[in-house]
Amino acid sequence: MTVVETPTLIAPHGGRLVDRTGPRPDGIDRLEQIPLTSRELSDLDMLASGALSPLEGFMGRNDYERVVEEMRLERGLPWSLPVCLAVDRAPQGDEVVLGDAAGRALATLEVDEVFEYDREREAERCFRTTDAAHPGVARLYEQKPVYLAGRVTVFERLEPPFPELALDPLDTRRAFDERGWRRVVGFQTRNPIHRAHEYLTKGALETVDGLLIHPLVGDTKSDDVPAATRVECYRVLVDNYYPADRVVVSAFPAAMRYAGPREAIWHAICRKNYGCSHFIVGRDHAGVGDYYGTYDAQLIFDELAPHELEIEPMFFEHAFFCRVCGQMATPKTCPHGGDDHVFLSGTKVRELLAAGELPPAEFSRPEVAEVLISAYRS
Ligand SMILES: [Zn+2]
Repeated sequence: MTVVETPTLIAPHGGRLVDRTGPRPDGIDRLEQIPLTSRELSDLDMLASGALSPLEGFMGRNDYERVVEEMRLERGLPWSLPVCLAVDRAPQGDEVVLGDAAGRALATLEVDEVFEYDREREAERCFRTTDAAHPGVARLYEQKPVYLAGRVTVFERLEPPFPELALDPLDTRRAFDERGWRRVVGFQTRNPIHRAHEYLTKGALETVDGLLIHPLVGDTKSDDVPAATRVECYRVLVDNYYPADRVVVSAFPAAMRYAGPREAIWHAICRKNYGCSHFIVGRDHAGVGDYYGTYDAQLIFDELAPHELEIEPMFFEHAFFCRVCGQMATPKTCPHGGDDHVFLSGTKVRELLAAGELPPAEFSRPEVAEVLISAYRS
């Protein structure tokens, strides 16, 4: 456990920031080594850094059951998604090594228990569907048959894909503290930021001290825009259109689960650990296909008591440029009809960019569009 040195910021989930890093122990070569999937590796790294505080390891049965059924840890604290390690069978011995697919040892796990789980029930409760065409459900169905639970100690961290953006919760907290921020809004995206996202992040920033742009850089579907391209888009956007002393850009190492509403809560809890007091939840946050209603990821927050999460969700509508208003707006703030709005479908934007054409300036900043055009060319 690391004592939080940033008392003016929101407390981590459960009160203390977990630190599950430690030195490489002697004699681990004789222990059984378990290879982790890319999602499990992301979870392991977030356990190490405290991004998943108060979790100290992969979940045991009591936490798992209550999370799946009630969105709470055994102790009652809200928690919306399982963080579990799937294995073939119970390991030999009371300690195992966790490694990557190439066989590199990264961590030890103190074996606490091994338990069976029902994939369909987990899918139905957590993803709201048992359809194997859902990417998160598909990954769940491919998992090994039992869960291995126990506290982890990580002695070798993964190389971050963007080292300059790799800030642990302790690092973002220090960064916010140095800037004198108390209220910080987190923004998560797995897409390039167009004017609509710029508008809502700036709208949120108007009411708080600072903005954390926190793009997800773990595993995503293959048809999402690659992380390297997205990161370059954020760079040019922030450099050109945001005050440098009000924004921190950092990478969120989580893998997408595409669990929609439950993942929105999970994303908010993680951002609380990074020091955010507010979190932007847009329409269809963390959704995929048409599995979730447009506002489901916002409505699910009402299942918790007011302020129970402590981090405050900020709900936003879809934004557009209105030619009559002469500015960015949403259905909340503009009375005009669709003909007056500059709105392009994702398909239309991709067509323009692939043809090397800039979308209208009311839709995309030209610097961002140029990054996307050159990504399409290569
Ligand atoms: Zn208008």
